[in-house]
Amino acid sequence: MTTTQPSPDHTLPPGTRFIDAFVIDINGIPRGKRLTADGWARAASTGVAFSASALVLDHRGMAQGPLGIGTADGDPDAAGLPVPGLLHRVPWAREPVAQALLSMRGRDGAPLWYDPREILRAVVERCRADGLHPVVSIELEFYLVGADAAGRVVPLPGVRGDVPGTGAGHLSMQHLEDHAAFLHTLHATLLAQGLPGDGLVCEYGPGQFELNLLHGPDPLLAADQAVLQRRATEGVAASMGLRASFMAKPFAALSGSGLHVHVSLVDEGGRNRFGAAGGETLLAQAVAGMQRLHAQSMAVFAPSFSAYRRYRPGSFVAMSSAWGEDNRSVAFRIPRSAPAARRIEHRLAAADASPHLVMAAILAAIHHGITQRLEPTPPATANADAAADPGLPTDIFAALRAVEAADVLGIYLPPRFGKLFADIKRAEAADLFADVTPAEHSFYL
Ligand code: GLU
Ligand code: MG
Repeated sequence: MTTTQPSPDHTLPPGTRFIDAFVIDINGIPRGKRLTADGWARAASTGVAFSASALVLDHRGMAQGPLGIGTADGDPDAAGLPVPGLLHRVPWAREPVAQALLSMRGRDGAPLWYDPREILRAVVERCRADGLHPVVSIELEFYLVGADAAGRVVPLPGVRGDVPGTGAGHLSMQHLEDHAAFLHTLHATLLAQGLPGDGLVCEYGPGQFELNLLHGPDPLLAADQAVLQRRATEGVAASMGLRASFMAKPFAALSGSGLHVHVSLVDEGGRNRFGAAGGETLLAQAVAGMQRLHAQSMAVFAPSFSAYRRYRPGSFVAMSSAWGEDNRSVAFRIPRSAPAARRIEHRLAAADASPHLVMAAILAAIHHGITQRLEPTPPATANADAAADPGLPTDIFAALRAVEAADVLGIYLPPRFGKLFADIKRAEAADLFADVTPAEHSFYL
Protein backbone atom coordinates (compact mmCIF):
# COMPACT_ATOMS: atom_id res chain seq x y z
CA MET A 1 0.00 0.00 0.00
CA THR A 2 1.42 3.40 -0.88
CA THR A 3 0.68 6.77 0.65
CA THR A 4 -2.10 8.62 -1.16
CA GLN A 5 -0.94 12.06 -2.15
CA PRO A 6 -3.18 14.64 -0.49
CA SER A 7 -5.00 16.58 -3.19
CA PRO A 8 -4.90 20.32 -2.59
CA ASP A 9 -7.74 20.87 -5.08
CA HIS A 10 -10.00 18.38 -3.26
CA THR A 11 -10.22 16.04 -6.25
CA LEU A 12 -10.97 12.46 -5.32
CA PRO A 13 -8.64 9.51 -5.91
CA PRO A 14 -9.64 7.80 -9.21
CA GLY A 15 -12.57 5.40 -8.91
CA THR A 16 -13.90 6.87 -5.64
CA ARG A 17 -17.67 6.19 -5.27
CA PHE A 18 -18.33 7.89 -1.94
CA ILE A 19 -16.64 10.38 0.31
CA ASP A 20 -17.02 10.67 4.07
CA ALA A 21 -16.93 14.41 4.84
CA PHE A 22 -16.84 15.20 8.55
CA VAL A 23 -15.97 17.66 11.25
CA ILE A 24 -14.38 16.77 14.60
CA ASP A 25 -16.77 17.49 17.45
CA ILE A 26 -16.06 18.66 20.98
CA ASN A 27 -15.65 15.01 22.06
CA GLY A 28 -13.04 14.38 19.37
CA ILE A 29 -15.54 12.31 17.38
CA PRO A 30 -15.96 12.68 13.58
CA ARG A 31 -19.49 13.68 12.51
CA GLY A 32 -20.68 14.35 8.99
CA LYS A 33 -22.08 12.79 5.83
CA ARG A 34 -21.25 10.16 3.22
CA LEU A 35 -21.59 11.92 -0.15
CA THR A 36 -21.48 10.49 -3.65
CA ALA A 37 -18.53 11.53 -5.79
CA ASP A 38 -20.88 13.81 -7.79
CA GLY A 39 -22.28 15.32 -4.60
CA TRP A 40 -18.74 16.06 -3.48
CA ALA A 41 -17.89 17.74 -6.78
CA ARG A 42 -20.74 20.19 -6.05
CA ALA A 43 -20.16 20.59 -2.31
CA ALA A 44 -16.37 20.80 -2.05
CA SER A 45 -16.21 24.45 -3.06
CA THR A 46 -19.50 25.76 -1.63
CA GLY A 47 -19.34 23.69 1.55
CA VAL A 48 -21.03 20.56 2.86
CA ALA A 49 -24.14 21.71 4.69
CA PHE A 50 -25.19 20.25 8.03
CA SER A 51 -26.23 21.34 11.46
CA ALA A 52 -23.69 23.63 13.17
CA SER A 53 -24.64 22.03 16.48
CA ALA A 54 -23.01 18.76 15.30
CA LEU A 55 -19.85 20.14 16.93
CA VAL A 56 -21.41 20.29 20.38
CA LEU A 57 -23.30 17.02 20.73
CA ASP A 58 -22.50 14.75 23.66
CA HIS A 59 -20.32 11.66 23.36
CA ARG A 60 -23.25 9.55 22.12
CA GLY A 61 -24.36 12.11 19.53
CA MET A 62 -27.24 13.35 21.70
CA ALA A 63 -28.11 17.07 21.41
CA GLN A 64 -27.93 18.74 24.82
CA GLY A 65 -28.53 22.30 23.56
CA PRO A 66 -25.61 23.91 25.41
CA LEU A 67 -25.96 27.73 25.58
CA GLY A 68 -29.00 27.33 23.34
CA ILE A 69 -26.88 26.07 20.42
CA GLY A 70 -29.03 23.75 18.32
CA THR A 71 -32.21 24.65 20.23
CA ALA A 72 -32.86 28.35 20.90
CA ASP A 73 -31.22 29.32 17.61
CA GLY A 74 -33.42 27.05 15.45
CA ASP A 75 -30.48 24.70 14.76
CA PRO A 76 -29.06 26.46 11.68
CA ASP A 77 -26.80 24.75 9.16
CA ALA A 78 -23.16 25.62 8.70
CA ALA A 79 -20.96 24.94 5.68
CA GLY A 80 -18.08 22.48 6.00
CA LEU A 81 -15.10 23.34 3.82
CA PRO A 82 -12.37 20.73 3.22
CA VAL A 83 -9.18 21.13 5.27
CA PRO A 84 -6.30 21.10 2.75
CA GLY A 85 -4.08 18.03 2.77
CA LEU A 86 -6.43 15.74 4.71
CA LEU A 87 -8.30 14.00 1.91
CA HIS A 88 -7.37 10.32 1.67
CA ARG A 89 -8.71 6.93 0.70
CA VAL A 90 -10.46 4.84 3.36
CA PRO A 91 -8.71 1.50 2.78
CA TRP A 92 -10.90 -0.45 5.23
CA ALA A 93 -14.20 0.44 3.49
CA ARG A 94 -15.95 -2.23 1.34
CA GLU A 95 -16.44 0.23 -1.54
CA PRO A 96 -13.97 2.77 -2.94
CA VAL A 97 -14.50 5.43 -0.28
CA ALA A 98 -12.41 8.50 0.52
CA GLN A 99 -12.60 10.82 3.53
CA ALA A 100 -12.16 14.57 4.00
CA LEU A 101 -11.88 16.59 7.15
CA LEU A 102 -14.07 19.70 7.16
CA SER A 103 -13.83 23.05 8.86
CA MET A 104 -17.28 24.53 9.61
CA ARG A 105 -18.19 28.12 8.66
CA GLY A 106 -21.22 30.01 9.89
CA ARG A 107 -23.49 32.24 7.78
CA ASP A 108 -20.90 35.04 7.95
CA GLY A 109 -18.23 32.71 6.53
CA ALA A 110 -16.25 32.79 9.78
CA PRO A 111 -15.24 29.64 11.69
CA LEU A 112 -17.52 28.67 14.59
CA TRP A 113 -16.10 29.77 17.96
CA TYR A 114 -16.78 26.39 19.55
CA ASP A 115 -14.99 24.36 16.85
CA PRO A 116 -12.21 22.53 18.80
CA ARG A 117 -9.84 22.97 15.85
CA GLU A 118 -10.28 26.74 16.01
CA ILE A 119 -9.81 26.72 19.79
CA LEU A 120 -6.49 24.90 19.39
CA ARG A 121 -5.45 27.08 16.45
CA ALA A 122 -5.83 30.21 18.59
CA VAL A 123 -3.67 28.79 21.41
CA VAL A 124 -0.96 27.70 18.95
CA GLU A 125 -0.96 31.19 17.39
CA ARG A 126 -0.59 32.76 20.83
CA CYS A 127 2.40 30.52 21.58
CA ARG A 128 4.05 31.28 18.24
CA ALA A 129 3.44 35.02 18.61
CA ASP A 130 5.50 34.85 21.82
CA GLY A 131 8.29 32.82 20.20
CA LEU A 132 7.18 29.46 21.59
CA HIS A 133 7.27 26.84 18.85
CA PRO A 134 6.00 23.44 20.03
CA VAL A 135 6.95 20.07 18.56
CA VAL A 136 4.52 17.36 19.62
CA SER A 137 3.51 13.75 19.26
CA ILE A 138 0.50 11.87 20.60
CA GLU A 139 0.43 8.29 21.91
CA LEU A 140 -2.93 6.54 21.96
CA GLU A 141 -3.76 3.32 23.78
CA PHE A 142 -6.74 1.08 23.00
CA TYR A 143 -8.15 -2.37 23.63
CA LEU A 144 -9.35 -5.02 21.25
CA VAL A 145 -12.48 -6.28 22.98
CA GLY A 146 -14.70 -9.33 22.61
CA ALA A 147 -17.45 -11.02 24.61
CA ASP A 148 -17.30 -14.01 26.95
CA ALA A 149 -19.84 -16.87 27.01
CA ALA A 150 -22.17 -14.78 29.18
CA GLY A 151 -22.02 -11.87 26.74
CA ARG A 152 -19.87 -9.70 29.01
CA VAL A 153 -17.33 -7.44 27.33
CA VAL A 154 -13.78 -8.77 27.85
CA PRO A 155 -10.37 -8.06 26.33
CA LEU A 156 -10.13 -10.04 23.11
CA PRO A 157 -8.39 -13.37 23.79
CA GLY A 158 -5.33 -14.13 21.67
CA VAL A 159 -5.75 -16.62 18.86
CA ARG A 160 -3.86 -19.18 20.96
CA GLY A 161 -6.93 -19.44 23.15
CA ASP A 162 -5.70 -17.70 26.29
CA VAL A 163 -8.44 -15.89 28.19
CA PRO A 164 -6.78 -12.75 29.51
CA GLY A 165 -9.66 -11.59 31.76
CA THR A 166 -7.40 -10.36 34.50
CA GLY A 167 -3.67 -9.91 34.70
CA ALA A 168 -1.36 -8.20 32.32
CA GLY A 169 0.34 -8.56 28.99
CA HIS A 170 2.94 -5.84 29.27
CA LEU A 171 5.28 -5.78 26.27
CA SER A 172 4.03 -9.25 25.32
CA MET A 173 5.48 -10.39 22.01
CA GLN A 174 2.92 -13.19 21.96
CA HIS A 175 -0.06 -10.81 22.05
CA LEU A 176 1.52 -8.78 19.24
CA GLU A 177 1.92 -11.94 17.17
CA ASP A 178 -1.57 -13.21 18.04
CA HIS A 179 -3.12 -10.03 16.69
CA ALA A 180 -0.55 -9.40 13.94
CA ALA A 181 -3.08 -9.66 11.10
CA PHE A 182 -5.03 -6.76 12.58
CA LEU A 183 -2.02 -4.73 13.74
CA HIS A 184 -0.17 -4.98 10.42
CA THR A 185 -3.28 -4.05 8.42
CA LEU A 186 -3.77 -1.09 10.72
CA HIS A 187 -0.16 -0.01 10.30
CA ALA A 188 -0.45 -0.15 6.49
CA THR A 189 -3.76 1.74 6.62
CA LEU A 190 -2.30 4.51 8.73
CA LEU A 191 0.64 4.83 6.34
CA ALA A 192 -1.74 5.02 3.37
CA GLN A 193 -3.55 7.86 5.11
CA GLY A 194 -0.34 9.81 5.70
CA LEU A 195 -0.12 8.78 9.35
CA PRO A 196 3.32 7.17 9.69
CA GLY A 197 3.85 5.29 12.94
CA ASP A 198 7.13 4.13 14.37
CA GLY A 199 6.08 0.84 15.89
CA LEU A 200 3.56 -1.31 17.72
CA VAL A 201 3.54 -2.09 21.42
CA CYS A 202 1.43 -4.46 23.48
CA GLU A 203 0.51 -2.34 26.48
CA TYR A 204 0.11 -3.36 30.10
CA GLY A 205 -3.38 -4.78 29.67
CA PRO A 206 -3.78 -8.03 27.70
CA GLY A 207 -5.33 -7.15 24.35
CA GLN A 208 -4.31 -3.51 24.89
CA PHE A 209 -2.08 -1.87 22.30
CA GLU A 210 -0.39 1.43 21.60
CA LEU A 211 0.50 3.02 18.27
CA ASN A 212 2.81 6.01 18.23
CA LEU A 213 2.90 8.57 15.45
CA LEU A 214 6.07 10.49 14.64
CA HIS A 215 6.55 13.88 16.27
CA GLY A 216 6.02 17.06 14.26
CA PRO A 217 5.90 20.87 14.47
CA ASP A 218 2.17 21.30 13.83
CA PRO A 219 0.02 20.68 16.96
CA LEU A 220 -3.23 21.14 14.99
CA LEU A 221 -2.21 18.49 12.47
CA ALA A 222 -1.10 16.15 15.29
CA ALA A 223 -4.53 16.48 16.94
CA ASP A 224 -6.32 15.96 13.60
CA GLN A 225 -4.18 12.89 13.00
CA ALA A 226 -4.98 11.45 16.44
CA VAL A 227 -8.69 11.60 15.60
CA LEU A 228 -8.07 10.04 12.18
CA GLN A 229 -5.93 7.37 13.86
CA ARG A 230 -8.78 6.48 16.22
CA ARG A 231 -11.21 6.31 13.31
CA ALA A 232 -8.85 4.12 11.28
CA THR A 233 -8.24 1.80 14.26
CA GLU A 234 -11.96 1.30 14.86
CA GLY A 235 -12.62 0.99 11.12
CA VAL A 236 -9.90 -1.56 10.39
CA ALA A 237 -10.97 -3.61 13.42
CA ALA A 238 -14.63 -3.60 12.32
CA SER A 239 -13.67 -4.58 8.76
CA MET A 240 -11.96 -7.67 10.22
CA GLY A 241 -14.87 -8.59 12.49
CA LEU A 242 -13.12 -7.17 15.57
CA ARG A 243 -13.86 -4.29 17.90
CA ALA A 244 -11.31 -1.70 19.01
CA SER A 245 -12.17 0.70 21.83
CA PHE A 246 -10.55 3.86 23.15
CA MET A 247 -12.79 3.90 26.24
CA ALA A 248 -10.77 5.30 29.14
CA LYS A 249 -11.22 2.40 31.57
CA PRO A 250 -13.17 -0.49 30.06
CA PHE A 251 -12.12 -3.04 32.73
CA ALA A 252 -11.90 -2.24 36.42
CA ALA A 253 -9.05 -4.65 37.12
CA LEU A 254 -6.96 -3.78 34.07
CA SER A 255 -4.89 -0.82 32.97
CA GLY A 256 -6.85 2.09 31.48
CA SER A 257 -6.13 3.67 28.10
CA GLY A 258 -4.33 6.99 27.95
CA LEU A 259 -3.62 9.74 25.45
CA HIS A 260 -0.09 10.88 26.22
CA VAL A 261 1.34 14.00 24.64
CA HIS A 262 5.07 14.49 24.16
CA VAL A 263 6.00 18.13 23.80
CA SER A 264 9.16 20.13 23.36
CA LEU A 265 9.94 23.63 22.15
CA VAL A 266 12.25 24.45 19.27
CA ASP A 267 13.96 27.64 18.18
CA GLU A 268 13.50 29.25 14.74
CA GLY A 269 16.12 26.88 13.37
CA GLY A 270 14.26 23.80 14.66
CA ARG A 271 16.74 23.13 17.51
CA ASN A 272 15.33 21.75 20.75
CA ARG A 273 15.29 24.56 23.35
CA PHE A 274 14.84 22.24 26.36
CA GLY A 275 18.13 20.53 25.49
CA ALA A 276 20.05 23.78 24.85
CA ALA A 277 21.78 26.17 27.28
CA GLY A 278 19.20 27.56 29.72
CA GLY A 279 16.78 24.88 28.59
CA GLU A 280 16.36 23.37 32.06
CA THR A 281 14.79 26.59 33.37
CA LEU A 282 12.45 26.75 30.40
CA LEU A 283 11.45 23.12 30.88
CA ALA A 284 10.84 23.67 34.61
CA GLN A 285 8.64 26.71 33.87
CA ALA A 286 6.64 24.69 31.32
CA VAL A 287 6.11 21.94 33.92
CA ALA A 288 5.12 24.56 36.50
CA GLY A 289 2.47 25.86 34.09
CA MET A 290 1.11 22.32 33.71
CA GLN A 291 0.96 21.99 37.49
CA ARG A 292 -0.82 25.35 37.82
CA LEU A 293 -3.47 24.44 35.22
CA HIS A 294 -3.84 20.78 36.19
CA ALA A 295 -7.03 20.94 38.31
CA GLN A 296 -8.86 23.37 36.03
CA SER A 297 -8.00 21.31 32.91
CA MET A 298 -9.02 17.93 34.34
CA ALA A 299 -12.43 17.93 32.62
CA VAL A 300 -10.66 18.28 29.29
CA PHE A 301 -8.19 15.48 30.09
CA ALA A 302 -10.88 13.23 31.58
CA PRO A 303 -14.22 14.18 29.96
CA SER A 304 -16.25 11.08 30.88
CA PHE A 305 -17.42 9.28 34.00
CA SER A 306 -15.22 6.33 32.99
CA ALA A 307 -12.10 8.46 32.75
CA TYR A 308 -11.88 8.98 36.53
CA ARG A 309 -11.56 5.24 37.09
CA ARG A 310 -8.14 5.46 35.39
CA TYR A 311 -6.60 7.44 38.24
CA ARG A 312 -5.63 4.60 40.59
CA PRO A 313 -2.43 3.90 42.52
CA GLY A 314 -0.13 1.49 40.72
CA SER A 315 -1.68 1.97 37.28
CA PHE A 316 0.88 4.40 35.79
CA VAL A 317 -1.73 7.16 35.87
CA ALA A 318 -0.84 9.96 38.25
CA MET A 319 -3.30 11.25 40.84
CA SER A 320 -1.02 14.17 41.69
CA SER A 321 0.76 16.96 39.83
CA ALA A 322 4.17 15.36 40.45
CA TRP A 323 6.82 15.56 37.77
CA GLY A 324 10.17 13.86 37.40
CA GLU A 325 12.92 12.48 35.25
CA ASP A 326 12.42 9.01 33.77
CA ASN A 327 9.57 8.24 36.20
CA ARG A 328 6.30 6.70 34.93
CA SER A 329 4.36 7.34 38.13
CA VAL A 330 4.23 11.11 37.61
CA ALA A 331 1.83 13.31 35.64
CA PHE A 332 4.61 15.13 33.79
CA ARG A 333 7.46 12.81 32.91
CA ILE A 334 10.78 13.84 31.43
CA PRO A 335 11.75 10.79 29.35
CA ARG A 336 15.40 9.84 29.27
CA SER A 337 16.68 11.24 25.98
CA ALA A 338 19.47 13.00 24.12
CA PRO A 339 19.38 16.85 24.30
CA ALA A 340 17.93 17.01 20.77
CA ALA A 341 14.87 15.07 21.97
CA ARG A 342 14.49 16.60 25.45
CA ARG A 343 10.76 16.84 26.11
CA ILE A 344 7.88 16.56 28.57
CA GLU A 345 5.50 13.62 28.39
CA HIS A 346 2.08 14.78 29.60
CA ARG A 347 0.41 11.56 30.85
CA LEU A 348 -2.94 12.71 32.25
CA ALA A 349 -5.41 12.54 29.38
CA ALA A 350 -7.68 9.58 28.65
CA ALA A 351 -7.65 7.88 25.23
CA ASP A 352 -11.19 9.07 24.46
CA ALA A 353 -10.54 12.76 25.19
CA SER A 354 -10.60 15.43 22.47
CA PRO A 355 -6.99 15.62 21.22
CA HIS A 356 -7.60 19.23 20.17
CA LEU A 357 -8.79 20.38 23.58
CA VAL A 358 -6.11 18.36 25.40
CA MET A 359 -3.44 19.92 23.20
CA ALA A 360 -4.91 23.40 23.69
CA ALA A 361 -4.87 22.99 27.49
CA ILE A 362 -1.27 21.70 27.48
CA LEU A 363 0.03 24.50 25.25
CA ALA A 364 -1.87 27.10 27.30
CA ALA A 365 -0.16 25.72 30.41
CA ILE A 366 3.28 25.88 28.79
CA HIS A 367 2.68 29.44 27.60
CA HIS A 368 1.45 30.50 31.04
CA GLY A 369 4.30 28.80 32.91
CA ILE A 370 6.99 30.33 30.72
CA THR A 371 5.57 33.83 30.34
CA GLN A 372 4.88 34.03 34.12
CA ARG A 373 8.21 32.35 34.96
CA LEU A 374 6.55 29.90 37.34
CA GLU A 375 8.55 27.45 39.42
CA PRO A 376 7.53 23.81 39.73
CA THR A 377 7.55 21.70 42.90
CA PRO A 378 10.77 19.72 43.48
CA PRO A 379 10.85 16.75 41.09
CA ALA A 380 9.80 13.32 42.37
CA THR A 381 12.64 10.86 42.59
CA ALA A 382 10.63 7.77 43.65
CA ASN A 383 7.18 6.32 43.03
CA ALA A 384 4.74 9.24 43.16
CA ASP A 385 1.35 7.67 42.53
CA ALA A 386 0.55 6.29 45.99
CA ALA A 387 -1.16 9.46 47.23
CA ALA A 388 -3.60 11.84 45.57
CA ASP A 389 -3.24 15.64 45.60
CA PRO A 390 -6.23 16.91 47.60
CA GLY A 391 -6.89 19.85 45.24
CA LEU A 392 -7.53 17.72 42.16
CA PRO A 393 -11.07 16.86 41.03
CA THR A 394 -11.72 13.13 41.39
CA ASP A 395 -14.99 12.90 39.48
CA ILE A 396 -16.50 14.44 36.36
CA PHE A 397 -18.84 16.78 38.26
CA ALA A 398 -16.03 18.32 40.33
CA ALA A 399 -13.89 18.64 37.20
CA LEU A 400 -16.68 20.44 35.33
CA ARG A 401 -17.07 22.93 38.17
CA ALA A 402 -13.31 23.56 37.98
CA VAL A 403 -13.25 24.16 34.21
CA GLU A 404 -16.22 26.52 34.47
CA ALA A 405 -14.32 28.55 37.08
CA ALA A 406 -10.92 28.28 35.31
CA ASP A 407 -9.04 31.51 36.01
CA VAL A 408 -6.05 30.84 33.71
CA LEU A 409 -7.25 28.27 31.16
CA GLY A 410 -10.30 30.49 30.71
CA ILE A 411 -8.06 33.26 29.36
CA TYR A 412 -6.73 31.01 26.61
CA LEU A 413 -10.05 29.45 25.56
CA PRO A 414 -13.14 31.30 24.27
CA PRO A 415 -14.93 33.07 27.16
CA ARG A 416 -17.99 30.81 27.17
CA PHE A 417 -16.13 27.57 26.59
CA GLY A 418 -16.10 26.37 30.22
CA LYS A 419 -19.86 26.77 30.53
CA LEU A 420 -20.50 25.19 27.12
CA PHE A 421 -18.35 22.14 27.88
CA ALA A 422 -19.77 21.75 31.39
CA ASP A 423 -23.38 21.96 30.11
CA ILE A 424 -22.77 19.16 27.58
CA LYS A 425 -20.81 16.85 29.84
CA ARG A 426 -22.97 17.40 32.91
CA ALA A 427 -26.09 16.48 30.92
CA GLU A 428 -24.30 13.43 29.48
CA ALA A 429 -23.25 12.21 32.95
CA ALA A 430 -26.70 12.93 34.37
CA ASP A 431 -28.23 10.68 31.70
CA LEU A 432 -25.79 7.93 32.68
CA PHE A 433 -26.76 8.23 36.34
CA ALA A 434 -30.47 8.29 35.59
CA ASP A 435 -30.38 4.51 35.20
CA VAL A 436 -30.61 2.11 38.17
CA THR A 437 -27.80 -0.37 37.57
CA PRO A 438 -27.38 -4.01 38.66
CA ALA A 439 -24.51 -2.88 40.91
CA GLU A 440 -26.85 -0.46 42.67
CA HIS A 441 -29.36 -3.26 43.27
CA SER A 442 -26.68 -5.50 44.73
CA PHE A 443 -25.66 -2.71 47.14
CA TYR A 444 -28.98 -1.27 48.21
CA LEU A 445 -31.99 -3.42 47.27
N1 GLU B 1 -2.17 2.79 30.41
C1 GLU B 1 -1.64 3.91 31.16
C2 GLU B 1 -2.61 5.09 31.03
O1 GLU B 1 -3.76 4.90 31.19
C3 GLU B 1 -0.25 4.31 30.70
C4 GLU B 1 0.76 3.21 30.61
C5 GLU B 1 2.04 3.71 29.95
O2 GLU B 1 2.10 3.78 28.73
O3 GLU B 1 2.97 4.09 30.67
O4 GLU B 1 -2.27 6.18 30.75
MG1 MG C 1 1.58 3.62 26.84
